[in-house]
Amino acid sequence: MHNNGATAIAIDGPAAAGKTVVGNKLAKKIGYRFLDTGMMYRAATVVALDAQADFNDIDSLLDAVEQFEIEARSGANGETLILINGKDITSSLRSHDVDSQVSAVAAIARVREIMVAAQRKLAADGGIVMVGRDIGTVVLQDARPKIYLTANLETRAKRRFLEMKDLPEHPPLEEILTAMRMRDKIDSSREASPLRPAYDAVIVETDNMTVEEVVHRLCELVNGVTS
Ligand code: C5P
Repeated sequence: MHNNGATAIAIDGPAAAGKTVVGNKLAKKIGYRFLDTGMMYRAATVVALDAQADFNDIDSLLDAVEQFEIEARSGANGETLILINGKDITSSLRSHDVDSQVSAVAAIARVREIMVAAQRKLAADGGIVMVGRDIGTVVLQDARPKIYLTANLETRAKRRFLEMKDLPEHPPLEEILTAMRMRDKIDSSREASPLRPAYDAVIVETDNMTVEEVVHRLCELVNGVTS
């Protein structure tokens, strides 16, 4: 596939819409780098949890987050790895605790400023597929194409349940659904960069699509931009 036109591709959408799996596969197909920005907000949350910050107090959260250097890198399979002060903490980012608290940390405007600056730096050389909540609306407003991946809450909660079911402490479906509903609500109603499709995003509803079908659709959209 030729893609000399597009240098940054934005994929946004709610939790478990398939952004990470699909975005990474798309990046591989077209020879782009991949960055999952959700991992950066998760890393800030791990730092705040480890520091026993008060999650009701923005200053306490910021104190914790600003003390650490959070670095995002690509792993051998193109996946996003996160290093905190040089140590790889990627495996701790998808716990249920982090799922429950991450939206509170991501709603803090100063946290977003720090993350957005780091994300723009990583995208400066182009050739990147970046996934998150505000990539098309804020981080990379010139990205082409901009894609908004979505699916209904039940479909997304089931997907997350299946992903987690082999973990030693996997939460029941009902708990995942409740936490996801809460996260959707905070992410879409927050003041700083709320989750919403960019005005020029293409909305892709993935409820009845396989991963390969979604990747195929995204390739069509990328080709549409670059041909
Ligand atoms: O994509 P993921 O579910 O890993 O994201 C975790 C959380 O990080 C989201 O629920 C949201 O609160 C936050 N986030 C964000 N902006 C992004 C990416 C993630 O606010 N660009």
